[in-house]
Amino acid sequence: MSGEGDQLDGGTNGRTVVDTDTSRLPLTAYPSRVLVIQTAFLGDVVLTTPLLTVLAERHGPVDVVTTPAAACLLENHPAVAGVVRYDKHGSARGWRGLRQVGSLLRARRYRSVYLPHRSLRSAVLALWSGAHERIGFAGSGAALTYTRRVARPRGGHEVERLLALAGSSAVAVPPVSLTLSPGDHAAAEAWLSAHGVAGRFTAMAPGSVWGTKRWPYYSELASRVDGAVVIVGGPEDVPLARAIVQATDGRLVSAAGALSLPESAALIQRARVLVTNDSAPLHLATAVGTPVVALFGPTVPEFGFGPRRSGDITLGHRQLSCRPCSRHGPEVCPLGHHRCMRELSIDVVAQAIATVASAEETRAICPRS
Ligand code: SF4
Repeated sequence: MSGEGDQLDGGTNGRTVVDTDTSRLPLTAYPSRVLVIQTAFLGDVVLTTPLLTVLAERHGPVDVVTTPAAACLLENHPAVAGVVRYDKHGSARGWRGLRQVGSLLRARRYRSVYLPHRSLRSAVLALWSGAHERIGFAGSGAALTYTRRVARPRGGHEVERLLALAGSSAVAVPPVSLTLSPGDHAAAEAWLSAHGVAGRFTAMAPGSVWGTKRWPYYSELASRVDGAVVIVGGPEDVPLARAIVQATDGRLVSAAGALSLPESAALIQRARVLVTNDSAPLHLATAVGTPVVALFGPTVPEFGFGPRRSGDITLGHRQLSCRPCSRHGPEVCPLGHHRCMRELSIDVVAQAIATVASAEETRAICPRS
């Protein structure tokens, strides 16, 4: 769940989802004339949902090309008519896979293609789709191939930056959203029940694709938190989660790798607070309305990927001149000390959890306060 490499996947739940096997394409089932190509990281896909909502309000539900990992997050979304899974690093990798997906898109005769993802691959797909209108960000590597180039806002949250593609009339910003199925909720409930977690709990997402984004003190934090603690993550986070569970003598339980991505989102929705690094679970929590304590190390929320919910808390080392040091966060600290995360104290994080949890309890008792 840490990022693009996630391989959690879900069923089709009755929605239109195809892979890149064109023999499985029922053309008549695809009335959408608008396509969005978003094959970036999981978090980026989640943050694209407000754009999907705005486009769907104008044109009806849209089709989306996305990664196999992210497809299950969009299958049930009301703004989405159909999902094309593009396995760019797997079964559809390379030029041949790109052509296959391009042919599939051309057969659907889209009128407009939106390109929140600025890659050359996405631009080639848009070109091969044959759509007369191709809308993407000016300054992208393949911007010359777009028919409309939109200035990408330099500041603001990624949600607003992506909404710029929809034009200036998109004044009301829809929420980041996911539509989880009853099956997702049932799976989360069943897992919690089977592991003896009753009532509200604290969720922790200790993983990240990038090593320097991982805060190193989750196991120590667990002993400072009231009530049950559950680790969330994908299969790639299992070794880290296992090490944390062992270090706490079973003080917490791990759902990493045990649930699909939408089921994990359903589990996060039941938590009183999620403690997370700057990674995909942060955006899942935003989408399902769970309060967040977000820990930023080599990156900063000013990059546009911070929490959005009022009451969320963002923590980061304020006195480090080396911070931020990269757009995503390097695997290893280039200075060797990793102070941005190591000096983010357990006390400060524990206090932030208590503050967020207490505000939530007050809000639950006095909904208008
Ligand atoms: S260089 Fe600074 S910001 Fe980057 S990982 Fe190291 S301590 Fe963190």
